[in-house]
Amino acid sequence: MTLVCSAQQPGHDHDKDGYDRGIVSPVTSVTVRVPAKLNLQLAVGPARDDGYHDLVTVFHAVSLFDEVTVAPADRDSVVVTGEGAGDVPADASNLAARAAAALLRVVGPGAADAPGLAIRIIKRIPVAAGLAGGSANAAATLVGCNELWRTGLRPQDLRELASGIGSDVAFALLGGSAIGTGRGERVTPALASGTFHWVLAFATGGLSTSDVYAACDRIRASRGLTVPEPALDNAIMAALRSGDPAALGPLLSNDLQQAAISLRPELRRALAAGRELGALGAMVSGSGPTCAFLARNLGHAQKLAAALTGAGVCRGVASVAGPVPGACVTADATEQA
Ligand code: ATP
Repeated sequence: MTLVCSAQQPGHDHDKDGYDRGIVSPVTSVTVRVPAKLNLQLAVGPARDDGYHDLVTVFHAVSLFDEVTVAPADRDSVVVTGEGAGDVPADASNLAARAAAALLRVVGPGAADAPGLAIRIIKRIPVAAGLAGGSANAAATLVGCNELWRTGLRPQDLRELASGIGSDVAFALLGGSAIGTGRGERVTPALASGTFHWVLAFATGGLSTSDVYAACDRIRASRGLTVPEPALDNAIMAALRSGDPAALGPLLSNDLQQAAISLRPELRRALAAGRELGALGAMVSGSGPTCAFLARNLGHAQKLAAALTGAGVCRGVASVAGPVPGACVTADATEQA
């Protein structure tokens, strides 16, 4: 891995004549907001020898955000509150803690000016829901610690580090709309016009991503299908560029959808209800069990959200928009002199 540090450390003050006054206020905490993702296309190739699958996916970040705050502390801690917090590990196995450890391995333990790191996570992205909440928290922690420790790493350095932590972490750093290849960790920004309005329908309980991939492999094997290498759907890219939800809706595709439905048959009812209620497109998000419905505009999304709630086909709904930016710092607290 090649990681290049910039010479200019963020937070180093220069006065108006350009003289370095050498005044650096210690940052005492950094808060980062990070979005959930949808996959507008998820093409899954055959299982590889290492058990993973090559993917081609079109990522799309939407306005459902978790918030992660990192602060120097005497010892390491992880505190998780909010949606599904009880299902998230509050120890070193948390993806946020693993991201901090990975960054520290690269920059060296001397970069942190305290023996420990306190990580606070406020979850709004449901857990194990196919919305990459854990990866989002890892990305937010990379951005937060990068600022806190003034490492000077560039966005592309963080993206390189991210791909070793989890498949969706690099995209959570980038946000917007992007093409993902490899296991999804190689991301290239994609052009999109305007804003698309979505309704997310949350299910009770989560789905394990590896269980869904295993079900997908079983279904394919039972049908004796030869699985082609995954390929990008250029029509989806054109629809994204056009900003026209009516063009995008019918093109949404997810190779894991059938597998997710095989494990959670009630998702079929939720998808059918959304279509009957006028959604332009309906799909399971990633490995599920969240369903995503594309609306014509904000007003339509709000009506669709209300109607889906009334139909009793899901645990809860959220009206969201995309694309939105990836992990970004929302607050920096500095020690007052
Ligand atoms: P994937 O990104 O694998 O598709 P997902 O989006 O469906 O997963 P996540 O919310 O990322 O689901 O959770 C996947 C698993 O990761 C859960 O079992 C959860 O316990 C674990 N996990 C570890 N750290 C976190 C975290 N900070 N937030 C959410 N889940 C976490």
